[in-house]
Amino acid sequence: MRAAVIREFNAPLSLETVPDPICEADGVVMKVLACGICRSDWHGWVGEHPKVKPGAIPGHEYCGEVVEAGPLARWKPGDRVIAPFILSCGECPECRSGQTTTCRAQRVPGFGEPGAYAEYVSAPHAHNLARLPESLTPALAAGLGCRVTTAFHALTGRAALQAGEWLAVHGTGGIGLSVLLIGRALGARVIVVDIVPERLAHALSLGAEVAIDARDGDVAARIIEATGGGAHVSVEALGSEPTTNGSLECLRPLGRPVQVGLPTGHTAKMQINMNAVYMKQLAVYGTRGMPSWRYPSLLDLITRGLVDVRPIVARQVALSAASAELAAFNAPMPPGVAVITDFAG
Ligand SMILES: [Zn+2]
Ligand SMILES: [Zn+2]
Repeated sequence: MRAAVIREFNAPLSLETVPDPICEADGVVMKVLACGICRSDWHGWVGEHPKVKPGAIPGHEYCGEVVEAGPLARWKPGDRVIAPFILSCGECPECRSGQTTTCRAQRVPGFGEPGAYAEYVSAPHAHNLARLPESLTPALAAGLGCRVTTAFHALTGRAALQAGEWLAVHGTGGIGLSVLLIGRALGARVIVVDIVPERLAHALSLGAEVAIDARDGDVAARIIEATGGGAHVSVEALGSEPTTNGSLECLRPLGRPVQVGLPTGHTAKMQINMNAVYMKQLAVYGTRGMPSWRYPSLLDLITRGLVDVRPIVARQVALSAASAELAAFNAPMPPGVAVITDFAG
């Protein structure tokens, strides 16, 4: 099959013919219909992710058509499915408790095993897959990627966002945009922070009440003023130290910050304002992904039109254009994400 392979960090992906994936007993092999391009892929591509080595095929945001199903998988060829990026084992204590994003035996295509920047991908633990709704195009389904699922679980499964609460979103890339759209659907008042005016304008057009350009400084003070005392919930959606501190400092007492951005840098360590955590008695959440059993709730919100995910996908590209898309993450980006939908081009 044709695949895009990392041969050298920070260099164009190599388009190669590689062996077709092998179907595992509890998994499927699918023909990839679409695969999102994500900042997490960029982390691997620049060499910051411990599980991404030369020879890796990126791609963790995919949907496809089943071409082969293992004897233990409850899917059949022809089924159209969408995969969460965390493929949980279903057997460990974490999985049995329902907290499958913390599965101790989880597998993530694109991080330690071949991903979906390819014509075919193997998805083990296929009980995690969900049927692709008729009304959702493959590009939009892949665009849900890790961002919409993570945003949904961050707000509903972790911070328990309530209607009428102020929600601050730091960074309006794919995940920040998803947090905005779901926050609005849940009845929150949303305030967005970014450094790209075009992205702030885009967020305002999608229902954000207040947009703050972080280049003007004093982000936390301005959010506290605009919200009459601070946000109730704050989502850090970039993974940088200044935005993480802004996310903590913009909250009102007893606020709930959620760390969604993958921390950048080789050590991923930051200097954090713990005094804000202490003095305001914040409840700090980390979150990553969404338990796959929550797909029906999320897909229902989307297919009933309560969350319109179309603004998230900005462009559909060919596999050969993935390198340029990854390189674009080196600089501030225009709104929306790219999805690979042409695996021959
Ligand atoms: Zn497990
Ligand atoms: Zn992703």
